[in-house]
Amino acid sequence: MADGCACDRNTHVYLTVSEALTRGLSAADTITGTEVLPLIDAIGRVLAEDCTSRVDMPAFDNSAMDGYAIRTCDLGDGPLFDMPVAGRVAAGDSGAHDAPAGSALRIFTGAPVPADFDAVLMQEDCETTADGIRFTRRPRPGQHIRCAGEDLKAGGPVLRKGCEIGAREAAALASAGYGQVTVYRKLRVTIFSTGNELRQPGEELGPGQIYNSNRYMLRALLDNPWIDLIDKGPVQDNPDLLEKVLREACDTSDLIVTTGGVSVGDEDHMPRLFSEIGGQADVMKVAMKPGKPIMFGRRGAALYVGLPGNPVSAYVTWQIIGSQMMARRAGLHHVPRMPEQAVLAEPLERRAGRQEYRPVYIDGLTSDGMPRLRLMAASYSGRVALLAQADGLAVIPAETETMAAGEALDFLRF
Ligand code: AMP
Ligand code: MG
Repeated sequence: MADGCACDRNTHVYLTVSEALTRGLSAADTITGTEVLPLIDAIGRVLAEDCTSRVDMPAFDNSAMDGYAIRTCDLGDGPLFDMPVAGRVAAGDSGAHDAPAGSALRIFTGAPVPADFDAVLMQEDCETTADGIRFTRRPRPGQHIRCAGEDLKAGGPVLRKGCEIGAREAAALASAGYGQVTVYRKLRVTIFSTGNELRQPGEELGPGQIYNSNRYMLRALLDNPWIDLIDKGPVQDNPDLLEKVLREACDTSDLIVTTGGVSVGDEDHMPRLFSEIGGQADVMKVAMKPGKPIMFGRRGAALYVGLPGNPVSAYVTWQIIGSQMMARRAGLHHVPRMPEQAVLAEPLERRAGRQEYRPVYIDGLTSDGMPRLRLMAASYSGRVALLAQADGLAVIPAETETMAAGEALDFLRF
């Protein structure tokens, strides 16, 4: 585990966000188990093999248009070209024909272009005559023909291991001839929220109680085809109970995500308990707002991510650090999220020191099409309603104290 930081909850060493992310990612090794699934069942899963095409894509020269296939060597000087039509090829036909020299073939999109034909005329460019067609523009050889292998040759790379099989990937794998693919097994993720104050929405709130929003937030964040989710619900701030749930989760999960109880209060039991059950914990004080602290640890095969209890802090630390650790554990290759450029609609003043992810809403666009951002509030770590109304997070660099209206900054759109 990271040097010198294990379970030291009272040091004042703050990590930058990128240092924290590097530490978190280094603790998140990829699971090794894979399974072979029919392509249809692999949709949404994480590819665990490099895939090369089994066929030329497309497999044969075919027509890109509805129209007429011709041999350009048959054409005279023009300006009018007349040709009889001596056959017909539609998509799915073999392309066999007995059209003599000097004649055209009626052809449709996706139909094989016979080897001795070298151009396709769009039907819109042809006039039909009593026994054939007339056209005026001389076609160039290869016109409107999609050549075998022009998308990808057989043996060429289709996808790299580590991508999520979405619509584009599924289509490419299907076209490359993959009836089944090797994917990582589902990531077993256990979640629970800690806190004596938590009630389920729908229940009556007693004095000092609040609704458990983190559970629903995490359920939504983890609702994903490559995750097998075990939801332990809310767990009271009772060390014995927490230890039991944590131990069980460590024994059965690849990843455990909890909220609350990772700070320095008397009821913040998670770092100590995690160490007591044999885990190696790293409570990171990250110079980010909202968010510090975030905890992660390892025990055997289980990776543990302890998020802060404040819902906006939990959301932001998950998005910026936790989700990337999870992605690596699940086998996804790391693609850093690129912020977009935006400008502030109003001036900003704040205390320097922490990189801030401030909820903002888009108040129109600049003349070059950049979002103009309005800041929602300076203090928001517990404000879930505000988070739901925001359009994204403005990223304010740690050292920034003031910004003028119109200044550019990074924006992470939801
Ligand atoms: P903690 O990190 O446990 O000290 O919690 C920090 C703050 O977040 C406290 O105000 C908690 O009441 C609140 N909180 C903790 N867990 C949740 C939760 N699951 N849903 C909503 N708020 C929570
Ligand atoms: Mg708590």
